[in-house]
Amino acid sequence: MSAIDDLPPLRDVVREHGLDARKSLGQNFLFDLNLTSRIARASGPLEGVTVVEVGPGPGGLTRALLALGARRVVAVERDERCLPALAAIAERYPGRLEVVSGDALETDWSALGIEAPARVVANLPYNVATVLLTGWLEQDPWPPIFESFTLMFQREVAERIVATPDEPKDYGRLGVLCGWRTKARILFDVSPAAFHPPPKVVSSVVQLVPRPDPLPCRLKDLTTVTQAAFGQRRKMLRQSLKPLGMNPTPLLEQAGIDPTARAETVPVEGFVALANAWRSLRG
Ligand code: SAM
Repeated sequence: MSAIDDLPPLRDVVREHGLDARKSLGQNFLFDLNLTSRIARASGPLEGVTVVEVGPGPGGLTRALLALGARRVVAVERDERCLPALAAIAERYPGRLEVVSGDALETDWSALGIEAPARVVANLPYNVATVLLTGWLEQDPWPPIFESFTLMFQREVAERIVATPDEPKDYGRLGVLCGWRTKARILFDVSPAAFHPPPKVVSSVVQLVPRPDPLPCRLKDLTTVTQAAFGQRRKMLRQSLKPLGMNPTPLLEQAGIDPTARAETVPVEGFVALANAWRSLRG
């Protein structure tokens, strides 16, 4: 028995189904249902909410989400060995858990029949965590159906997600994308000792809440200018923007940015202005 439901402890579930953790699948499982409940609660009250979870594994977070009242959990898992354990959870919570067997990187989120209010809550596989996040944040139209994303990352990635020019070491393309479309913050850290097997680094739970009206610019233009600017982040922008194939000085002037500035000192608003200037000067 566990504190949150009458299903077996996760350690037993993993043993029973032979779920030895595979590094290639980013498998670092959480066995402590108090911790998975803390992550689930961090996303806010769950009654009436549909939750998309990536990588339920043996189901520690899935169980917490369901026990805390999520109306429906849609869980996408690539490792077929986990399916029997997840089927037992689905049986315990009839009609509330839908397991999608497949690769989250290839999942068409709009085809899952998700109804609002909906959130994403996941202890992400670290090897694909950033790709998954950028995939969600690059969706159009914006805002997406998800009212928030509560996600576990390696601490170092979490710092890049929430970074601003105040943390120039961590600030880059990911911070610009996250800051442009969402309000992102680190909620709490999780020690390696909480995972089985323990990863080498500390993890952090991050929450991203989509901005309903991000500063207007085209994602494609923002991507183009941030790629160039951070491609040579140590150089002044009048130099680093040369790969854009246009004289950077008038571009920077139109965007109201000092041509001697470096990418890591330019806030999100500056990059939006740069993206819009790039678009208008290209004609
Ligand atoms: N949620 C579980 C927990 O907290 O204990 C497991 C988290 S573990 C860090 C990541 C999970 O993602 C594993 O179950 C792994 O099999 C799954 N996974 C890895 N790559 C995936 C992918 N591309 N699509 C879907 N699931 C994936």
